[in-house]
Amino acid sequence: MSAPTASVFVKCSCGHVHWGRYGAAGLLLVDPARGVLLQRRAWWVHHGRTWALPGGAIEAGETARGAAAREAFEETSIPADAFRAVSASVVDHGDWSYTTVLALAEGAEARVANTESAEVRWVDPDDVPGYRLHRDFAAAWPDLRERVGQELVLVVDAANVVGSRPDGWWRDRHGAAERLRDQLAKLAEAGVPDPGDPAVSWWPRIILVVEGQAKHVTPATGVEVVAADTDGDSKIVEVVARQQARVLVATADRELKRRVEALGAEILGPGTLRRQLDEL
Ligand SMILES: [Zn+2]
Repeated sequence: MSAPTASVFVKCSCGHVHWGRYGAAGLLLVDPARGVLLQRRAWWVHHGRTWALPGGAIEAGETARGAAAREAFEETSIPADAFRAVSASVVDHGDWSYTTVLALAEGAEARVANTESAEVRWVDPDDVPGYRLHRDFAAAWPDLRERVGQELVLVVDAANVVGSRPDGWWRDRHGAAERLRDQLAKLAEAGVPDPGDPAVSWWPRIILVVEGQAKHVTPATGVEVVAADTDGDSKIVEVVARQQARVLVATADRELKRRVEALGAEILGPGTLRRQLDEL
């Protein structure tokens, strides 16, 4: 038996009706040179003739990111390999939710690709409020506007995180760091919750800093590896100092925490990180 169709209206406790049994998702594509991609909805769809993001109902078994990417391709012909997902934010009504996936797309070509969309246009973020916007997108825009241009970098103190769990890592420090790297590669794909905002999650750039017997660990998809020749802590401070983005540092080392917090970084405890990795 197939899953019930996702393409239905939901009568929501907020008093409105929404589209999508499993909620809906949209893609906020950002091109630093051109702005954000808006779509003018065709006259015949719900909230027709208003401007909003490409998006639609989440199908059974589909992730919000998958739905946003599929809908954007169907409506604007931008393929999933033309952008990199950066963050997701959820507006949860209880009976229904909407996830906005923010992604970076440099140079992607958008065009009207199906009949649900009347026009697609790159718009300067400051000009967005001047458009006739879909009610829900207009309400969400002030928060989304703040996140345009934001990224998260997760810097991982390999020695400290590996050493946080007595699982025999001392017998093979290189192998233990490789296992951590492989788990981090899965985390790069799955995303991490925002430490301060439960409605937001990130697909971070991950930088694993290795030292000593683990210093020849190679990178993996989604995980950059930086090797410290001598002092791992100083290398981590150096890596943090050159980031433009918001930085989370996974370490429990007190002195290192003090040094990176002085640079504006936030701390993710190794225990919290390990729990997130265990859940993958
Ligand atoms: Zn609602």
